[in-house]
Amino acid sequence: MTNRHVYSFAEGDGHNKKLLGGKGANLCEMTQIGINVPPGFVITTEACLDYLERDELPPELMGEVTAEIEKLESATGKTFGRGPDPLLVSVRSGSALSMPGMMDTVLNLGLNEETLAGLIEQTGDERFAYDAYRRFIQLFGKVALGIDDEHFDEHFEAIKKRVGVKADVGLEADHLREISDKFLGVVRRESGQEFPHDVMKQLQLAVEAVFRSWMGKRAVDYRREFHITPDMANGTAVNICTMVFGNKGDDCATGVGFTRNPGTGENEMFGEYLTNAQGEDVVAGIRTPKALSELQQEMPTQYEQLVALRNTLESHYLEVQDYEFTIEKGILYCLQTRNGKMNAAATVKTSVDMYKEDLISKEQALLRIDPELLEQLLHPSLDPASTDEPIATGLPASPGAASGKCVFDADLAEKLGKVGDDIILVREETRPEDIHGFFAAQGILTSRGGKTSHAAVVARGMGKPCVAGAEGIIVDVALRQAHVGGNIIHEGDVITLDGGTGMVYLGAIPTIQAHFSDDLHTLLGWADEEADLKVLANADTPEAAQRARDYGAMGIGLCRTERMFNASDRLPIVIDMILANNEEDRKEALDRLLPIQRADFIELFTVMSPNPVTVRLLDPPMHEFLPTENDLLEQIETLRLYRDVIRGRQAALDTFSMEPDLPKPFAELSEELVNDALIKKERMLKKVRELHEVNPMLGHRGVRLGIAYPEIYAMQIKAILEATVECAKKGLSVRPEIMVPQVITSQEVAYVRRTVDELTKQLEKDFGKELRFKFGTMIETVRACTRATQLASSVEFFSFGTNDLTQATFSFSREDAENKFLPMYNEYEILQDNPFEVLDIQGLGQLIDMAVYRGRKQRPDLKIGICGEQGGHPASIEFCHKVGLDYVSCSGPRVPIARLAAANAKLRAQEAEAT
Ligand code: PEP
Ligand code: MG
Repeated sequence: MTNRHVYSFAEGDGHNKKLLGGKGANLCEMTQIGINVPPGFVITTEACLDYLERDELPPELMGEVTAEIEKLESATGKTFGRGPDPLLVSVRSGSALSMPGMMDTVLNLGLNEETLAGLIEQTGDERFAYDAYRRFIQLFGKVALGIDDEHFDEHFEAIKKRVGVKADVGLEADHLREISDKFLGVVRRESGQEFPHDVMKQLQLAVEAVFRSWMGKRAVDYRREFHITPDMANGTAVNICTMVFGNKGDDCATGVGFTRNPGTGENEMFGEYLTNAQGEDVVAGIRTPKALSELQQEMPTQYEQLVALRNTLESHYLEVQDYEFTIEKGILYCLQTRNGKMNAAATVKTSVDMYKEDLISKEQALLRIDPELLEQLLHPSLDPASTDEPIATGLPASPGAASGKCVFDADLAEKLGKVGDDIILVREETRPEDIHGFFAAQGILTSRGGKTSHAAVVARGMGKPCVAGAEGIIVDVALRQAHVGGNIIHEGDVITLDGGTGMVYLGAIPTIQAHFSDDLHTLLGWADEEADLKVLANADTPEAAQRARDYGAMGIGLCRTERMFNASDRLPIVIDMILANNEEDRKEALDRLLPIQRADFIELFTVMSPNPVTVRLLDPPMHEFLPTENDLLEQIETLRLYRDVIRGRQAALDTFSMEPDLPKPFAELSEELVNDALIKKERMLKKVRELHEVNPMLGHRGVRLGIAYPEIYAMQIKAILEATVECAKKGLSVRPEIMVPQVITSQEVAYVRRTVDELTKQLEKDFGKELRFKFGTMIETVRACTRATQLASSVEFFSFGTNDLTQATFSFSREDAENKFLPMYNEYEILQDNPFEVLDIQGLGQLIDMAVYRGRKQRPDLKIGICGEQGGHPASIEFCHKVGLDYVSCSGPRVPIARLAAANAKLRAQEAEAT
């Protein structure tokens, strides 16, 4: 730890975000490249950690702060805590990673009765000064003294009502003075002390409060949700900056901008501003702001300066920037900049555009996109065929479409979300404390605020649809309803949002799948050129295979053949096979299955030609194809009752001297048919009881089944090889791979291999040509990892089945852990992630590493991949790249994410090597 806790904007290292926070580092950087930033300084994140640990500020800190304040006084000619021209400062949080609105900020600090008089004297604007004062008392009271907003709001609203104005701009200086007095009274009453007069005391309390906000619920929840770990961001810095005012008159303004349109990625001026307002008014959505294009007419000189600022920011940071600015008496200041959060479509478009504009390289274009973001491109949009009329229109603040029940507060949204309801959070405006409601909601609707309001920014970051500023909607939280024109929407009524158009509809509207833009195709093409890892898909049907192919899958890494057995035309045959009491009966059922399986494989191979298709032989325990014991007992009981009914009917018919001539269906009701059904059900029940295992996932499944019933695997292998021959005859290039599940020893593999060899020999004789295919094993038991050397001598490929391997490594049941104790483990931070979703690199990673090393040592050309769920997760993919796997296989819709992740893994590894 360094001893120094404070850096002026002119000195701080613009690259050291860990120490100075993102905002602080950027303020330093901007100052040093000549952008007009108001003078200020940064207190480091280290000071924050020190404060949180010891519960008091580092002893030297306030001394350093005083020295910096003196420098600010000389730089600005203003004085802190005194007139005639008092220095006011903003005190803002800022950690290494942007956490918008999650921590606290205090503005106008340095005001007290004395400086207030100076401010009035100096500006000649009493209204302005009292407005600043009342804002400061409320914000300081809330942040530093913990007084709820409602105590202040009550007085503010009462005075507005009395005066008869809706917006605060309608209030005169006298009203604002009265409000300030009331607010001082609130502080006295609620905190039990006078509002601090000493400005250094104000500053100290504000710094402490910002430090504490790092551990506030909002911030902690946010970090948990976005997996922000201490090595990514630890503690918040505090930025102390000379106040500049956008609310000193009509030659003043404040606004926020993006260097490109964050909704579409279009290269254009984008943003919103308010004249004669303070920044918080724009961000909080209290007044609905104007589009930046209007500034061109209103303040043409400043607009030109803003265009220049935007160009400087983008060409310096080589990244789309989200910046805040204030115009004070005609002078433009930039108050902050950070990388802009955009939706996936805009991120992809800006990557491709910025490459074409020669701003960034292809590698940078790939690396600037978080692969997970692409998930948003798979989000549905409203079916254009729908003819429903919207009931309201707002700003299209975050694209995507969603339907759900209206809920008017975040707490209830969280509760209903937890029980699985689809929710649309409907608020007048949102605040950071609503964040848990965002997590729970499918979409967000607000009646106030613009595209850069809190609701819009947070929803965009989360990739959730948001319609903001739908002013036709009047939300009445107390009555749990909203009025829209003549309609009343009650809590629980279903509505649909289209965040791409800003339309709001009553009821649920059908949605359609997203489609890939040309830009995304271009970008993923670059990714494929870059990556070493191939990306395959887990797919079991020709339709799924085709979808995966459309997503760019380079083959099938896992076809779970059991899923082919579940279709209604196959299951009865599979059940016959399971119920068979001898090999002959089982073969008879298998003979019926063979052509069906063969046809399946022909279709799959054809769809994927000329890419590999890895077919896994039957894996799950047999009982999974049979009904449960309870279901069977119920069905047997019903059949018995039914038989009694038939017997009774027969007895009734027997009382006639002559059998009546009944129409066909009645005549066919026979005891014999019911008896046949009963016998079958009873046999099933017997089989179910026979097959019962205490722990079936660790029981008779996978290759163990194949060895117990070799004819099952033989049928599947035959179907694969015959399909290969059929395709070859049609001139199709196919690359089948036969994969054995649940292997623990090379003897098992050798056993299956014998069947493969025998069948191959036969088929090749008839076909007259050599059959080309690969034979391999899944690695999903711990023993398979330790015996990788021996296994590699018997197979041509390994595929890590990390679902089972995770189960085995953790001794967590994959069926139960995620619903039982894993969430608790994550909450208590015993485990950072769900290991069934995110590969456990520290533990399981070592097993993989070892198996890869041993396998390749034995067989250098061994092909190795992963096909567990983790194969579609970017951090897991990065690990797969590092250990030298050849491919990852994941579900179809994750394929684009995996393609980008594979490229980024390679690029990051190259970067690490170069440094
Ligand atoms: C695995 O275990 O990772 C795997 C892919 O197989 P399954 O999920 O079908 O058991
Ligand atoms: Mg498995």
